[in-house]
Amino acid sequence: MIAGGGIAGIAAGIRLAQAGAKVVVVETRKKLGGRATSFVDVRTGQTLDNCQHVALRCCTNYLDLLERLGVIDEIEWHDRQFWIERGGRTSVVKRSFLPAPTHFSPSVAMLSFLSLNEKRLLAQCMLAIMRVDRSQWVTRTFGEFLSQHGQTDRLIRRFWEPVIVSACNLGVARAAASSALQVFQEGFCAARTSADIGIARVPLVMLYDSAEAVLARAGGELRLGTSVRSIGERKVTVSSGVGPDESLLCDRVICALPPERVGDVMDPQIVARDPRMGAMARITHSPILGVHLRFDRPVLLTPHAVLVEGSVQWLFRKDDEGTSIHAVISGADEWMPLSEAEITQRVLADLHAYLPGSAGATLLSSRPVKEKRATFACTPEVEQIRPPVAAPRGESEILLAGDAVQTGWPATMEGATRSGYMAAAVVLGKEPRGLLVPDVAPAPLARAFGLRG
Ligand SMILES: Cc1cc2nc3c(=O)[nH]c(=O)nc-3n(C[C@H](O)[C@H](O)[C@H](O)COP(=O)(O)OP(=O)(O)OC[C@H]3O[C@@H](n4cnc5c(N)ncnc54)[C@H](O)[C@@H]3O)c2cc1C
Repeated sequence: MIAGGGIAGIAAGIRLAQAGAKVVVVETRKKLGGRATSFVDVRTGQTLDNCQHVALRCCTNYLDLLERLGVIDEIEWHDRQFWIERGGRTSVVKRSFLPAPTHFSPSVAMLSFLSLNEKRLLAQCMLAIMRVDRSQWVTRTFGEFLSQHGQTDRLIRRFWEPVIVSACNLGVARAAASSALQVFQEGFCAARTSADIGIARVPLVMLYDSAEAVLARAGGELRLGTSVRSIGERKVTVSSGVGPDESLLCDRVICALPPERVGDVMDPQIVARDPRMGAMARITHSPILGVHLRFDRPVLLTPHAVLVEGSVQWLFRKDDEGTSIHAVISGADEWMPLSEAEITQRVLADLHAYLPGSAGATLLSSRPVKEKRATFACTPEVEQIRPPVAAPRGESEILLAGDAVQTGWPATMEGATRSGYMAAAVVLGKEPRGLLVPDVAPAPLARAFGLRG
């Protein structure tokens, strides 16, 4: 039995079904995907993603899952990033023919929003990042790492902050250094293509269309619109809202629910003897705000944009012309109390400041989507309590999956996939890492600079 049909639950279900196991996945909503899914906007009838989701080429397990679901070709790859300053001046960060980790050097040398001295400091810090053992930095913030390596406030605001707040959903002052270091070590330094940006061409919910058939081929089943009411070692009670609750017996349970929901359904005796359950309840969250905007004429001419020191961090073009765009604000605590009108006003102010051509465009619609519990907050405190997939001393046989368990990754689709693969491995009698797709191996020159796989 797998409780929860987010990416972690789907990943566990697919690996188990493909290994011949009969799996039942129970998902409370009428669709798969959890936080990485789509909804129909009642105001316009459009299918919108709850927020833009981006994968990088270093997300080896997530890409493997898409391959298994038969949808890997639905990902469109971008090998460059567009950084825009107030006034509209644009710098392009793109990989060159040079080997990793020097592949971005030519375009970083040309960045118009950093001074020569800032580029020198950035290069020195990247060298330090390649050499550092990130496991030694779990208890400290990335802000501490950056100040230890002489990074100035302006350089932090202009470069480090936008990368980290988008990747970790927390700013450098709060994000655990270990998580941020992982982003740069694996995403930027290991291989030339690691940081390529992958964006789904179709609504996210469509990526999971084949999952039900894969489960069914192994004799399993997908139960949508069905809530898990209670979880025991060998029994899960579910309710579809029609008729009485149903108790389902099983050999093993994978609990792939969001961390804050685990305590509501777990057998109190298991909670009392398995400290992982209490740890899940103590995990705190960080919000993300996504705003879908539609204009009467093109406003964004590049496929995406990072706004240097913007309150909006990323813009994504959602149609060929650039009339539909999606604005993303990660680590969005201060935006959560704002009304839709206030949010739209603030986002428009940024658009007009960074894309001066947008000032003449008429806004046709704006749809902010607040996700208060978008991801777990990857602070040093939370990093130290993320529980393992399996109970280390056999306190219970329940397997935990979900982006918040110990995967070594921030809260991402890759982390969620890894957790699902790890739980499936344990069910199949393997060690937790037994089904994981290996990380991208660091290039020889990156190794020479000190980067270890
Ligand atoms: C706004 C936003 C933007 C993001 N952007 C990115 C990005 O660009 N790149 C990236 O890699 N990641 C991104 N993420 C993070 C990513 O979406 C998550 O890390 C990932 O989807 C988590 O998957 P999960 O399976 O662990 O959890 P969830 O998706 O939360 O899945 C848990 C499932 O359990 C279900 N459930 C809850 N209670 C019950 C119950 N009682 N019975 C049955 N089912 C239940 C839920 O409905 C849900 O489907 C973003 C997240 C958000 C919210």
